[in-house]
Amino acid sequence: MSTLEIKNLHVQVETNDGPKQILRGVDLTINSGEIHAIMGPNGSGKSTLAYSIAGHPKYEVTEGEILLDGEDVLEMSVDERAKAGLFLAMQYPVEVPGVSVSNFLRTARTAVDGEAPKLRTWVGEVKDAMERLRMNPDFANRDVNSGFSGGEKKRHEILQMELLRPKFGILDETDSGLDIDALRIVSEGVNRVHEETNTGIMLITHYTRILNYIKPDFVHVFVDGRVAEQGGGELAERLEAEGYDRFLQAAH
Ligand code: ADP
Ligand code: MG
Ligand code: MG
Repeated sequence: MSTLEIKNLHVQVETNDGPKQILRGVDLTINSGEIHAIMGPNGSGKSTLAYSIAGHPKYEVTEGEILLDGEDVLEMSVDERAKAGLFLAMQYPVEVPGVSVSNFLRTARTAVDGEAPKLRTWVGEVKDAMERLRMNPDFANRDVNSGFSGGEKKRHEILQMELLRPKFGILDETDSGLDIDALRIVSEGVNRVHEETNTGIMLITHYTRILNYIKPDFVHVFVDGRVAEQGGGELAERLEAEGYDRFLQAAH
């Protein structure tokens, strides 16, 4: 069993007008096998939380802690975080021209495992994972994210998670831009990794739509860089009915 603890996290980002405080004391604990939905209006700091956990250099932690099984994540490099079992699927995945999906996945797996996967079993593993995500086999030869449709980018993210089997998967708006079939296939992929590997999931979303497919154990409502309210899955249903207005008014 693993635990990812976020304690009193304060994060600022450097802007043209100087540093801007975005996270103002976030407390959140995720255990293996749990699914946490992070919901909240645009600009509330959800992606900032994801980037801070992943170690994006633009986001400076000014106070608080992130611990993975008691180890100080903030002291780790981005690579060390991945190796320790943290996986981030970004809201806007970057293009990597000249690097094929197949090579990218193998490099990522090698970095996480500390040794290259055996070529024979690896090829089969990738093929099976791609089939489960209903991806065309040709996809493995394409350059990472270049010219990918929104849905292809998201499937590629989940493909990575399937093959890396992290302790914790942080999925930032994995639902955005997906049609209903792609949403179901991507959600099934998330559920499969969660069930087979006991991966803890932090599912960041603006809308409740994906929660029809991925059932959260806990819901945290983000407003103004803080958790304004938390509850079980039923809180998502209330948000669907009531929107974020009530929280926004309380915060100002
Ligand atoms: P969310 O994902 O909830 O929509 P973000 O974490 O992306 O929110 O952004 C929170 C706030 O921080 C927003 O006001 C956004 O404009 C600001 N912000 C985030 N990243 C940057 C950045 N790199 N430069 C300037 N402002 C940023
Ligand atoms: Mg579960
Ligand atoms: Mg965001």
